[in-house]
Amino acid sequence: MLKTARIAVNRPLRRLFDYTIPDGLKLHPGQRVRIPFGRQQAIGLVVDTESSPTPGIALKPILSTLEEWSALPSETLNLLKWASTYYQHPTGECLFTALPPALRKGRPAHEKKQQWWQAQASTNPLPANAHKQKALYDWLSSKEEGASTRDITEAGFTRTQLDSLLNRGLVTESTTDALEAVEINKPPPLPGPELSPVQLDAAAQLPTLQEGFSSTLLYGITGSGKTELYLHQLKRQLPDDKQALVLIPEINLTPQTVSRFRRYFGNRVVLWHSALNDGERLATWLRVRNGEPVILIGTRSSVLLPFTCLKTIIVDEEHDSSYKQGEGFRYSARDLAVYRAHLNDCPIILGSATPSLESYQNAKQGKYSLVRLEERAGNARPPEISLLDIRSRPLEGGLSRPAIEAIRRTIENGEQVLVFVNRRGFAPVMMCFDCGHTMECPRCDSKLTYHRKDRAMRCHHCDFQMAARDHCPECQSDAFKPVGQGTERTEDILADTFPGTPVVRVDRDSTQRKDSIHKILERVNSGAPCILVGTQMLAKGHDFPNVTLVIVVNADGGLFSVDFRAPEQLVQTVLQVSGRAGRGEKTGRVLIQTCHSDHPLLKTLCHGRYLEMADQLLNERQNCHLPPFRSMAIFRAESPTMEGSLQVLDHIKSLTQVAGIETWGPLPAIIARRADKHRAQLVLNTTNRKLLNTLLSKICNKLEQTKFPVGVKWMIDVDPMET
Ligand code: ADP
Ligand code: ZN
Ligand code: ZN
Repeated sequence: MLKTARIAVNRPLRRLFDYTIPDGLKLHPGQRVRIPFGRQQAIGLVVDTESSPTPGIALKPILSTLEEWSALPSETLNLLKWASTYYQHPTGECLFTALPPALRKGRPAHEKKQQWWQAQASTNPLPANAHKQKALYDWLSSKEEGASTRDITEAGFTRTQLDSLLNRGLVTESTTDALEAVEINKPPPLPGPELSPVQLDAAAQLPTLQEGFSSTLLYGITGSGKTELYLHQLKRQLPDDKQALVLIPEINLTPQTVSRFRRYFGNRVVLWHSALNDGERLATWLRVRNGEPVILIGTRSSVLLPFTCLKTIIVDEEHDSSYKQGEGFRYSARDLAVYRAHLNDCPIILGSATPSLESYQNAKQGKYSLVRLEERAGNARPPEISLLDIRSRPLEGGLSRPAIEAIRRTIENGEQVLVFVNRRGFAPVMMCFDCGHTMECPRCDSKLTYHRKDRAMRCHHCDFQMAARDHCPECQSDAFKPVGQGTERTEDILADTFPGTPVVRVDRDSTQRKDSIHKILERVNSGAPCILVGTQMLAKGHDFPNVTLVIVVNADGGLFSVDFRAPEQLVQTVLQVSGRAGRGEKTGRVLIQTCHSDHPLLKTLCHGRYLEMADQLLNERQNCHLPPFRSMAIFRAESPTMEGSLQVLDHIKSLTQVAGIETWGPLPAIIARRADKHRAQLVLNTTNRKLLNTLLSKICNKLEQTKFPVGVKWMIDVDPMET
């Protein structure tokens, strides 16, 4: 009898493939193999070392293994297999996501050496016309430690220029590992600050690393010392030969955070983030796979690394939406981290000043233990938050007179201002700026949203729609507009109003370039008066000690949005932004512009007690049958025409007619057209997670077999962050 194995390939295919195992070839699950695939060869990953293929089909043999060991050790493999089923994403693509790019392409699994160059002192002058070589030589001479080939080409020099210098004996070449070897506790660890009694009390409630699986939600207000607690726990309890994973949002990977860990753990601290090159990625990945006792600080995808002796996981800022992958394999790194801790039988800590409603609800139900840290470390006091009613007030660039006056006073005091524009909430609900009236669906409790393209107002929970109105149905005012409009000009208005003060924009675009965020931070840290204008980016990670005033331009977009997560994100961001301010000697002040100053959520926000708001929000979620009380999934479709997208989703809807599954839509997406694609969505909502999973598997398998017209695409998003 021929022996066969099941292999996954890196293609968007839900099925696995059977191959025969040549005599003498020993296979392990998770191993890389070379296989014939179609007319070509491909790299595959062994999923099962035994299989029972359909009889009568001629199978091809596996050609070879790439190494004798499994690229994906069993725990990592099990995590990925589970994730593939849970998120309904093809197994092959999930497994290959966990390999560094070099290994996906079939390159050998060992570190590439780096070429390293150093200038040599010489009396031989370069020819007068060799300007470029001279420039390179001078540049290299200024680098005491030399530079890698990559540094040199990134600085604008070429390989040919290097070779000429080498021939003249003006530079020397050597090779080094892409990364330094991990050595335990070197340099010797420095003592940290002594924990306060409140911090000690919290530390005592955290799980010990000797215990098995448990989940702990560490609720600690901004600046209360959560990071200090993580360090304390690792320092005291992580054995010298074990690994730890610390997940952080991309933007928090500041030199500050890293150096705090390095102070205690030296080069045992290893980083994983999007700016690594392929060589660094492979080197780091190999270290983790080889069981080196690293403390890995990394962003989202580090939860998929092949740890072999993981002893604990920490997820910092666990509420952060960047933990959810928005495209392709749409996993939540936070949720996978919890599952991984469970597979691995080790404790996990989820830390945040503004926990996600999902995690908080888990804590309320006793699935997670809740540890609180409600005092700021040191002398810093919490900021004062107040509401600024802008009903019937003229706005310029989204700013009211009193807000502008507050900015003026702050600048005159020599302090800094942060103006926060809540983009995320920009789902265009219609609101009257004179009386605050919002339009509700006559059939259900949700707000009507404005679709610019066909000037229609639609409900996103049922099929109701009507033509858009120009006047408020309550007070007849013509200030009846989609919330969130008119803030594009905020920056210009500020620059015009305060000509002597720098206005600095902080958002995805302005920080895209490497180093630009550092330049911005340098300017802010210099302490001179300036006005920072930005979106969610501003809420994350950084300290702005001289910012004493925060203006929230458009809170109402977050209050009234079709995106059911918008209110949660509004309060999280406002508290996080507020937490950036007044960390120094001066107390911070936060002004929230709103047409709804009597809104219960905003009133609670002024007290700054997050868990009370979370309780309110959870109540609403429960009443509206939304997550975390329900399980949700969204089918999205795009095609050259809206009819095409809606047709696909109508077809999918016909497959979901099962008792216990509720569907909303199909409807055009809020941003109905992007890059000439028309986008629509269908929401599935249920109390029965298992039923949903089974149904989704069935539907997705069926859809994969279905031929759709050219240009029509469908995708599935389980536990979506955006609706
Ligand atoms: P969080 O992670 O909760 O925002 P951090 O751990 O970053 O809080 O602490 C906030 C600031 O307070 C940091 O500068 C930290 O060094 C300092 N800090 C925390 N705990 C103490 C302590 N017990 N003694 C002195 N400084 C502390
Ligand atoms: Zn009105
Ligand atoms: Zn409705």
